[in-house]
Amino acid sequence: MSLAHAAELLSSARSGLALTGAGVSAESGIPTFRGADGLWTRFDPVKVSSIDTFLADPTAYWTASRERGNIALAAKPNAGHHALAAMEAAGRLVAVVTQNTDGLHQAAGSKRVVELHGSGRTVACLECGRTEPRSEVQARLDAEMPPRCRHCGSTLMKPTVILFGEPMPPDAVREAFDLAQKADVILVVGSSLVVYPAADVPLVAVRSGARMIVVNAEPTPFDRLAEVVIHGRAGEVLPEILDLIGA
Ligand code: NAD
Ligand code: ZN
Repeated sequence: MSLAHAAELLSSARSGLALTGAGVSAESGIPTFRGADGLWTRFDPVKVSSIDTFLADPTAYWTASRERGNIALAAKPNAGHHALAAMEAAGRLVAVVTQNTDGLHQAAGSKRVVELHGSGRTVACLECGRTEPRSEVQARLDAEMPPRCRHCGSTLMKPTVILFGEPMPPDAVREAFDLAQKADVILVVGSSLVVYPAADVPLVAVRSGARMIVVNAEPTPFDRLAEVVIHGRAGEVLPEILDLIGA
């Protein structure tokens, strides 16, 4: 019933927007931070993922980041990412705004992806500004910890993700809220909706008149604002909705 309702809303959407969180990539084998099996049940997030920790001790940062990097680089998009790409291709979504840094929406074929928390696919030198693919930096971590910049030798090589204590990328934030204001349907997938300003995206959309669909493994604080709430796995629910849309 709710699947059909979600499909009906998306079928008539002219400016549909998706907001995704770590949950959409869970079935690709990338652990979420929050939630039942979340990494934050094992690590203190502010310690592991803050700019102050990184600057004080890049080796500690890279030691923690290395395992996640191996997992993320090997991960493949799942049926949820593919369904979202198909919805965009069919004109039912105009874009995906994501909190994820794994690049799996692009790998699945989504064309317009707004990365609110940056990208983990690239590493930037904080001294000279040069960038390198994460895969290349990752490959030399065995021999070089922390990794050094190939150009200037600095050890301040940071993935281009937004760490705690860093400003959000202004262009991505502007684009996300512009899309939210214009959206007629907002589809939230795999986000706990407790990380701001990402969680404001569906709020702005709803205030501007959008109808909201939530697909998440667990309840979220905004479920009561949604017209359709489906508690389930993104990789199972989204392909079912796509089927019903007939896209
Ligand atoms: P989050 O706030 O987006 O929460 C994840 C949510 O996904 C939880 O509510 C959980 O119940 C739900 N979930 C888990 N498995 C699911 C599934 N199969 N289908 C649908 N929903 C599912 O994210 P977080 O984990 O608290 O991470 C916070 C921030 O850290 C993110 O916004 C992101 O910037 C970064 N992060 C990125 C990745 C990634 O790039 N894949 C992974 C972890 C964390
Ligand atoms: Zn450099």
